[in-house]
Amino acid sequence: METALENTGLEEATAEFATALVRGTLEHIESIDQTIGRLSVGWDTQRQPAVDRNILRMAMYEILYLDDIPVSVTINEAVELAKKFSAEESSRFINGVLGTLVRECGLPERKDMAAQILDGLATAKQIREEIKADVERFIADTGVMPHLAVIIVGEDPASQVYVNMKKKACLAAGMLSTVHELPENSTQEEIIDIIRQLNADPGIHGIMVQHPVPKHLDELEILAAVARGKDVDGISRESLGSLVTGNPLFIAATPAGIIELLDRYNIPIEGKHAVVVGRSIILGKPVALYLLNRHATVTICHTRTRDLAAITRQADILVAAAGKPEMITGDMLKDGVIVIDAGYNKVEGRDRDVGDVEFESAAQKASWITPVPGGVGPMTIAMLLKNTLKAAKQAAGVA
Ligand code: NAP
Repeated sequence: METALENTGLEEATAEFATALVRGTLEHIESIDQTIGRLSVGWDTQRQPAVDRNILRMAMYEILYLDDIPVSVTINEAVELAKKFSAEESSRFINGVLGTLVRECGLPERKDMAAQILDGLATAKQIREEIKADVERFIADTGVMPHLAVIIVGEDPASQVYVNMKKKACLAAGMLSTVHELPENSTQEEIIDIIRQLNADPGIHGIMVQHPVPKHLDELEILAAVARGKDVDGISRESLGSLVTGNPLFIAATPAGIIELLDRYNIPIEGKHAVVVGRSIILGKPVALYLLNRHATVTICHTRTRDLAAITRQADILVAAAGKPEMITGDMLKDGVIVIDAGYNKVEGRDRDVGDVEFESAAQKASWITPVPGGVGPMTIAMLLKNTLKAAKQAAGVA
């Protein structure tokens, strides 16, 4: 084994660690495999590629037998490895099994305060399954199929990916989704005209306009045209206004996803000091209002905030929504903070998108933290589906 590792070009310390890891894993392989078998009920482990079984085995050895590696780091590394060498489904499998192990054994109650993962991917999957079952019941009762209409203006590649993901998610949940693709040079009137037609169509229950729209358009004016009962994205003036009065019909999907994630992990919000970094209309402001409605004490920070770190260090719950890669570092946080990283940023030279929080250092301080990817992003789509079903139920008078 040593010779094989010599040829990999790994640094000596890394090669030593890798050798010890492989040795340790092999020594305990029987009990590790038994644990995997027990925790992966519903998955055919033999169908997973060998590389995934081995990543899982080694991660499990780290969690069960090595004390000095934070569980969150192990899980993230294993998931990233699986993504690199295998399929998307494999990383979910590995995340699921390790997450169950951690929950079962209560392992993260460590002295080193290494954070537990708020697993948005697994939580969103569960919510989407719940929605699918609810959609089936709704269709059986009413004969109506919930239908989301998405309007996309221009050819921004990231927006096209998001719209495609939303369409797929709708179909997977048993709902309909129609995408209206409009050219970059569309006028305000043309877009509002389509929205009016969709407002008047009883077969359409939810309407969302993919953000951002081209610069020559007034996004808020466009959103204002969406009928209140169909504003499933929750970011029209009226929906945002009703968040202020405390009784919103639909809450914007990303803020709703953040609160739902906290709720599903039974993390209390009431009385906590929540610090939101960012004040955009789609994210910072509505999440701050929503946290306030749930009785947090809320501070909102932005580019003119003085001594940001002095404020973020006071946070019991920190929501990073600034769109600045890894700007929140561990030294800006207090021990035990709950970190929600809504950021999703492309960085040149990095092989994957990163959040607004520097995960490694923040995970040393936080008690709970969302990974990027796999945290807030999947929750956003789940909430859009939830809002669309709610809109269809209200239209059918069964809400
Ligand atoms: P945005 O419209 O650009 O707003 C960014 C906000 O952050 C602004 O309010 C800005 O302050 C503030 N900010 C920027 N740099 C800052 C700094 N150095 N210190 C303090 N505040 C700072 O962005 P957004 O649309 O809200 O998105 C924010 C991030 O969330 C992005 O990474 C985006 O990709 C991600 N996002 C994720 C999802 C999801 O589903 N996961 C959904 C939406 C957005 P000013 O107001 O003073 O300029």
